[in-house]
Parts: sequence; structure tokens; C-alpha cells
Amino acid sequence: MPEAMSWEEEARCNDHDPEMFFATRPRAEGRAKAICSRCPVSFECLQFALAARVEFGVWGGLSSKERMVLLREAPRPARSRRLQPAFSG
Ligand code: SF4
Repeated sequence: MPEAMSWEEEARCNDHDPEMFFATRPRAEGRAKAICSRCPVSFECLQFALAARVEFGVWGGLSSKERMVLLREAPRPARSRRLQPAFSG
């Protein structure tokens, strides 16, 4: 039985210079985003970057600033409440 491929193995950026995805120049960022837009695993990539709070580079088609905006605007999980006993006394 063949092993399942991880999403990184299907990443379109594997065939490109990684520097492009971490460059700060707008033109390089635009080229990286264009590659991401045709990537079959962009959802998984973005999900990983958001969960790991990756600070640098283009991931899942979003720049670090764009990801930070998403994280700031995302609803926070409800704080766990201490369970109260059903009966007291
Ligand atoms: S979406 Fe992620 S995995 Fe796909 S090309 Fe862009 S950076 Fe690479």
C-alpha cells in the first residue's frame, strides 16, 4: 500500500527559489503569491502557517501582514469555565 503524501510534497513552491517566498520586495511577493494561487495545497499551507503563527514569508498565498490581520480578526476560543457541582451542601 503506498504511503500517503504529505502536503509539503505536493507544494508548488518546491520547484521555485525559496528566496522568492521570503523576499520583502513587492514584486517578489507578487510572484510568490501567483505561484501559491495555483498550488493544490494552499489551504493546508495557510492552515499550518496560521496555527504555527509563522511570522515571515508568503504561505498559502498570504503575506505575513495579511496572516496577522486574519489572526487578529479571528474569533478567540471561549475560555473554559470551571465546572460547578450539580449539587452542593
Ligand atoms: S501555498 Fe504554500 S505550499 Fe503552496 S506554493 Fe504557496 S507557499 Fe508553497
